Order: sequence, then structure tokens, then C-alpha cells
Amino acid sequence: MKSGPLGLDPELLNACVSCGLCLPHCPTFRVTGLEIASPRGRIAAMNAVETGMAPLKRPFIDAMAECVQCLGCETACPSGVRFGRLMEDSRATIAHRSGLRALLSRAFGAIAYRRLLPNQHVLHLLSWVLLVAQRMRVMPKRFRSSVPRLTRHRLRRTLNVTVGGNPDVWLFTGCVMDAWLQKTHVATAAALRSTGVRIARPDSRAGCCGALAAHAGRRDIARSLAKSVVAAMPGAAPIIVNSAGCGAALKDYGHLLGDADAERFAARVFDISEWLVAQTASPLATEARTSIVIQDPCHLRNVQRTHDSVRLLLGGAFALLETNDDGMCCGAGGGYAANQPDLSTKITKRKAKALRDAGASTDVAVCSSNPGCTFALEAAGFKVVHPAELYADCIAPDRGEPRNG
Ligand code: SF4
Ligand code: SF4
Repeated sequence: MKSGPLGLDPELLNACVSCGLCLPHCPTFRVTGLEIASPRGRIAAMNAVETGMAPLKRPFIDAMAECVQCLGCETACPSGVRFGRLMEDSRATIAHRSGLRALLSRAFGAIAYRRLLPNQHVLHLLSWVLLVAQRMRVMPKRFRSSVPRLTRHRLRRTLNVTVGGNPDVWLFTGCVMDAWLQKTHVATAAALRSTGVRIARPDSRAGCCGALAAHAGRRDIARSLAKSVVAAMPGAAPIIVNSAGCGAALKDYGHLLGDADAERFAARVFDISEWLVAQTASPLATEARTSIVIQDPCHLRNVQRTHDSVRLLLGGAFALLETNDDGMCCGAGGGYAANQPDLSTKITKRKAKALRDAGASTDVAVCSSNPGCTFALEAAGFKVVHPAELYADCIAPDRGEPRNG
């Protein structure tokens, strides 16, 4: 049953007992010290709006927008509060309110999420425009940590994988990963092929998973993108994803689309490390083990909860160094770095210190499996590599050449 202006499920809302155990795990609380910037404060604010004690206006809207949606609070909560569902529902209501500002925001969302991100040709063209803007130093400051340093090499199309067909496994390629991290796709393809499977990538219908639209409260667009992604990868073959955010989104299609087909689709989705660990043993070090600092993307740790697969996959070949911050968010959060640049920068600085304390340096790289985290940490001066790249370097030095699929 749903009630009140936000349409939240009262059972979910009332599950919070205000114990505050989630507060130390919330990055926005840690950098502001403000109750309204904590999970408990945000839930209290939702409650106030739902019961008519506060209007659905600013500062409530700002408090919701300042949440990174990292879900560190969900992992920490002993009462099982589904904070992510509450935040998604609140944002969906906020996104569809009346007024000029909301109208403009919806128009921007329709262009960005429906027309730009899912269209590889448009995204590729825009990437060249951004490259020129970076060279001319006219890139808006707020995009500096969410758009990586673009080069001709970075924008080269190097992935050689069959499109469509009837593969043993699908490699989901997505939008930003495909535009700016093709080297990770090439490594992922090599890692998959090393297990003897035939792989294929979906056609252009699977251009974007819809995660950014869903996080912005645009579930209408997210649903339309999700239906298209489902249609592009028919059959029963596993779907392998190398972006933690996209993997979390695809695994949530059952909830987003609310039907049995979507549930079956979601059950076929695996993070690349999760899938490789189930298929094969960790490669063994042949010489002195290289040190690597592990960074857990929130969508791998708090949503998919498969972050230990990275350690199992790489632990035999690398000396894994851990941060002492309980996997705290890096502040990238999809579009968060662009929408909340000040808060995002403060959170990233905390993460950078934790990574340096763990041993990250110009010689010791950080291992991350999410594009947003990768770009934010690169902007903070770190060398960032994906687990699939480390794995592929161990087992397939001639990677890039398709053996099958
Ligand atoms: S969300 Fe969970 S941990 Fe946080 S205050 Fe509420 S009950 Fe406590
Ligand atoms: S999702 Fe993350 S930023 Fe938002 S309230 Fe929870 S811990 Fe804080």
C-alpha cells in the first residue's frame, strides 16, 4: 500500500528505527556532519513529506539530490531498511513534479538518457567534441572528474566481437564503457574466450542499461531502455557485464519491469569477476607478485554484493592491498560528480587518502570495475585498471585476437 505525496510504501518507510548505525557508512554525512545529509535524516525528511509535516519543495529536494545512492547505508542497516527503493521512489516523484525547473530537467533527461547515451554514433561524435574541449581547456569544471582525459587512442574502436547470433555468453557493452573504455571490453572478451566459450555482443538496441535514468528518477525512460536491452539478448545464455553500475541495473530488471521475463533475464546476468571465478581458477603468479589496491565500487559491494569475487579472481596472481574505510564510496556516483561537484570532490578526497594509505602510488595501481569510479580516481591522479584487464594480462598476453565468437 502506498500513500502520501511521495507514494512510498509505509512498511518500507517505517522499517527505520532511527538507530543511527548507518551514519558512519554514509559518505555525505561523513563530509558534512549534517543529520539531513545522513540516511536517517533523509528517511525522516521523507516521512515528514509523506505525513504532510513538510512540503515537497526545497530543502527536501536538495537533500534527496545530495544522496550519492551508494547504498552503504543499506549494507550497514541491521533493520534491513530498503533505502535504495525509498530514494528511487522519492526521486521518481520529484522528477515528475510540476514547474519550470522540473520541466527543463525532464527535457534535459529525455535528450541525455533517451537520445544521447544509448546511441553509440552520437556518443562517439560527442566524445570527439569533448576531446577538443579538453585540448582547448574549455571543459566545464563540473565535468572534469566524470569525463576521463580523452585521446585518439582512447576513442579507437578496437573490440572485435560478433554482433548478435546465438552465443554461449553475451558481453554487454553499454554506453560509456563502450565509448571510453574499449580496452576493458577487449580484455573482458579475451578473459571470456580463454574459458573456451563463444561470445557475442548485443546489437544497438542494448546501447544503455538505463541506470543513470533510473537514478535520476526517470523510470519511464529506464523501463523503455531496459525493454530494449532485454530484446537485444534473447535466449538463455549468461550475460556478462564489466561495469558494476550496469550489472546492478541489469540484475534489477525484474523489479524495474515487474514481469517474469525480466526476472528470468536478470537471473542470467553476472559481473565478469563473479562469472570467471565460477568457471576457472585464479591465475598464479609466475614471478614476484605485483601489488594492487582494491577499490570496491558501491554497485558491486552494496548492490550486487559480489565484490569478493575480484579478490578470489586476482588473489593468486597479485598482492592485494585493502583500504581501511569499509569500502566507502568514492563520490563518483554516475552523474553525481557533475550534479553535486562540491560534495563529490570532498568525498573523492577522502577516498584518495584511503587509497594512498593502502599503498596506491604512481607505481601501484588501483583496481576498480566501474567507469564512474575509474574516471573520478583517474582525475584524482591514480592509475586505474579493471580486474578483467589484470586477469587477461595474466592468462592471454596475445589478447584482442578472437579465437572464437
Ligand atoms: S536506516 Fe537502518 S541503520 Fe540507519 S537509522 Fe534507520 S534503522 Fe538505523
Ligand atoms: S545511499 Fe549513500 S549517500 Fe545516500 S544516504 Fe545511503 S549511505 Fe548516504
